[in-house]
Amino acid sequence: MEAMLSVVEAQKQILEQARPLPPRPLALAAALGLVLAEDIVSDLDMPPYDKAMMDGFALRCADLNDGRAELTIVEEVMAGQMPQIAVAAGEATRIMTGAPLPSGVDTVVMSERCEVLDSRRVAVNDPALRPGQNLLKRGREMSEGEVVLRAGTPLRPQELGLLAAVGRTAVALVPRPRTAVLATGDELVDSDERPGPGQIRNSNAVMLCAQVQRAGGEPHNLGIARDAPEELKQRIAAGLHFDVLILSGGVSAGQRDLVPSILAALGVRALFHHVAMKPGKPVLFGILEQAEALPRLVFGLPGNPVSSLVCFELFVRPALRALLGLEPGPRFVSALLSQDFPYRSERPTYHPARLQSDGTGWRVEPVAWFGSADLRGVSPANAFVLLPAGAHHHRAGQTLSVLCVDDV
Ligand code: AMP
Ligand code: MG
Repeated sequence: MEAMLSVVEAQKQILEQARPLPPRPLALAAALGLVLAEDIVSDLDMPPYDKAMMDGFALRCADLNDGRAELTIVEEVMAGQMPQIAVAAGEATRIMTGAPLPSGVDTVVMSERCEVLDSRRVAVNDPALRPGQNLLKRGREMSEGEVVLRAGTPLRPQELGLLAAVGRTAVALVPRPRTAVLATGDELVDSDERPGPGQIRNSNAVMLCAQVQRAGGEPHNLGIARDAPEELKQRIAAGLHFDVLILSGGVSAGQRDLVPSILAALGVRALFHHVAMKPGKPVLFGILEQAEALPRLVFGLPGNPVSSLVCFELFVRPALRALLGLEPGPRFVSALLSQDFPYRSERPTYHPARLQSDGTGWRVEPVAWFGSADLRGVSPANAFVLLPAGAHHHRAGQTLSVLCVDDV
């Protein structure tokens, strides 16, 4: 058996193979969370005109005496209209937020500081008012021809809004990795079936597809393959057409663990097969070289559901994020243990836990758990606390490292 890698060494080997996918033009509606692959130039000045930022009156500051004046209302301008009348000394234009300013003015006084005397007269009282207040000059936000977003920027809702503002409906983006999920095992039945003797439902495929989606990938559920060499070979070969193939089950050393030899027969080069961790240990990572393209990435995850879940977060998610051009993670925080917790394990263990912030820092509490098959026990958890190998009496108040898998 080859040497057992540490989790960190395994992650390093994966990231050496995972480069951002070649960019493609994509519609804005599909772009949330993806990384921009081109610089974006504005096609206009923003705002496109000197613009009121308050409902009120546009006027000339010089007309005010200690912030006070009685002015003649010459016009009313709503957002979407253009002013027709230039404002002269002693005059003001009633204006709404977002409307273009008339010429001749240098400030906007908010309506709360005004008293409309009649349809033609307004009394202003705002001693703090200064020229340039409550307005935005044309091009202040951006000017035509200016780069407003750089290649490499991950797109959040605010960047999507900016792209829409400069008229870009499709942009070059690093696409979502197309990711196949294939469950293997003679004992598996689809989740809409009632398992017969010796059978269990396929919980991993749905879970792994959801993890792929949460990580930013595009999941494709390829169903269940039996532990029969010919069938398995065909189904795996089909999965190798995707950017990433995730196999669940069949990677340990049992008689029916056919995955490693079939992958080798299909030309996949295994870079590692065992990682020093719990849950999971048999976890395979391999690549299928492509002529003039990035290699396809293959992960063989152990079939026990919690092993699959944790191995995905530690190994597959960072790969998907690297293919997306994003920070790969995974994210760890330091947290104080909230209770004494004696624990013994021959390998570093990712134990399901509840992570919470108490306002000053993180606190972590391991949840009751019966091992790698106990998916139900993981449900109250939102993280995995990393317990070092060996027999330890972990004390309340001591600091431990915690793998974050949910938004906390
Ligand atoms: P394996 O890695 O194939 O040796 O499987 C290890 C354990 O995980 C066995 O108890 C399997 O029944 C279980 N298992 C394998 N695949 C799945 C799956 N897709 N859903 C739920 N449990 C599974
Ligand atoms: Mg199996």
